[in-house]
Amino acid sequence: MTERGSRNIILLGAPGSGKGTQAARLTERLGVPAVSTGDIFRANIAEGTALGKEAKGYMDRGELVPDAVVIAIALDRIDANDCRNGFLLDGFPRTTEQADALDRHLAAAGRGIDGVLLLDVPTEELVRRISGRRVCRSCGASYHVTDIPPARAGLCDACDGALYARDDDNEETVRNRIEVYNVNTAPLTAYYEERKLLLRIAASGASGPDAVFADILKALRA
Ligand code: AMP
Repeated sequence: MTERGSRNIILLGAPGSGKGTQAARLTERLGVPAVSTGDIFRANIAEGTALGKEAKGYMDRGELVPDAVVIAIALDRIDANDCRNGFLLDGFPRTTEQADALDRHLAAAGRGIDGVLLLDVPTEELVRRISGRRVCRSCGASYHVTDIPPARAGLCDACDGALYARDDDNEETVRNRIEVYNVNTAPLTAYYEERKLLLRIAASGASGPDAVFADILKALRA
């Protein structure tokens, strides 16, 4: 179980469960970087790199990028200097193979995961949340047209960047992403429960992002 000061954290949850929103708050509070494999892919797509070209087709269809590709970039990122005192993983691991690779990699360096936050949201709520999601092109902050609206329409509160809807946030792709989550990623809850690392957080819309964040801090004793 997580102790005060523990800093290697995984954020687990279906697409639309609020991982990005809570990661932004947590990274500020804990002073550790958020590592989002989805953000790494999107940056590579924007830059037109070979990795971006490889990932784009999978992402547009709502499928998972192959394990070998994701594992290599995620572990490389975790080894960067700014992660030496901790990291917050958002969107990785998403399969048991990724979780095993992460476990082995950290163990080899005398490190480990301190806590796994599961953001629990009823499936029927996820589609509504994702279809209203808007993301800042500059800093990646997440908004929702009605649930978390920016102060000025279309502009980020934090950095004035332009807000946009992600390519893969259309309804058809979203339904596939949720199905992929249920098949490939949901088993990770049992995986981390067995290791006594799972911290379940009720994160439905009724709670609201502030209440969810308060529950996360309580669970982490942060
Ligand atoms: P996200 O921003 O976390 O919702 O990720 C967007 C998309 O990037 C996913 O639907 C996948 O296509 C891909 N992706 C991100 N992280 C992973 C991962 N850990 N394993 C496989 N694919 C991933």
